[in-house]
Amino acid sequence: MNQNLDTIVELQDALMQLKDAEGRLSGIPDWMRELHDEHEARKSEIEALDQAAEAATRDRRTAESAVADAQEKLKKYQQQINKVSNQREYGAILQEIDTVKSQISTSEEAAFAALERSEVAARELAAKRESFRELEERYATELARWEGEKPGIARQAEELRGRVADLKARVPRNLLSVFERLLARYPVSALAETRLMERPGGRQREWHCTACNYRVRPQVVVEIRNGSGLVQCDSCKRILVLPPAEQA
Ligand SMILES: [Zn+2]
Repeated sequence: MNQNLDTIVELQDALMQLKDAEGRLSGIPDWMRELHDEHEARKSEIEALDQAAEAATRDRRTAESAVADAQEKLKKYQQQINKVSNQREYGAILQEIDTVKSQISTSEEAAFAALERSEVAARELAAKRESFRELEERYATELARWEGEKPGIARQAEELRGRVADLKARVPRNLLSVFERLLARYPVSALAETRLMERPGGRQREWHCTACNYRVRPQVVVEIRNGSGLVQCDSCKRILVLPPAEQA
């Protein structure tokens, strides 16, 4: 029985569980992912409609104040027309009055179009908000459930951190640094099982590294089982472990 190897196996297992717990704490849990994406999509639809409604309201106000300004001008010209002293001035003011009247009608049309746009947007917004309500409630419920799970996961992560520190303290420093270097290189697993495999065509069976398929010498298998160090695959350098049946 290889005590150090057993500890390394346990350590990797604890590190993986810790990574998983930390990932779950910082991100959206898988069971909420679909609902979360749907919620985000509906939310941005509503935001876009909201912006369209606001833009229409702004356009309407701009057009309405243009109408008011033009009406003010019109009033002024109508007062002036009574005081003109000759035909030329009269003609000029009539010209101004025509211009200002056409400005009024253009701005009135713009104000009306903007009003229509803002009404359409408001109706769509109301309908969308109504249909969004059910999703929003479901989302709030799941979010509360997720918040409720977090403290448990945080406690679990805390325990795992303690366990990782414990296990690390039990492995000789040089072996630990080999393991850590390999785990940095192979984040999924620094370990590889070695397995007895049939040679194609032949009757002979050979040990192989299951990660890279490289051959493992039989004496190495004995060393994995009975030694106290770590045995690495000659090719991929992963730490070799025996299949569960061979570990006794
Ligand atoms: Zn290998």
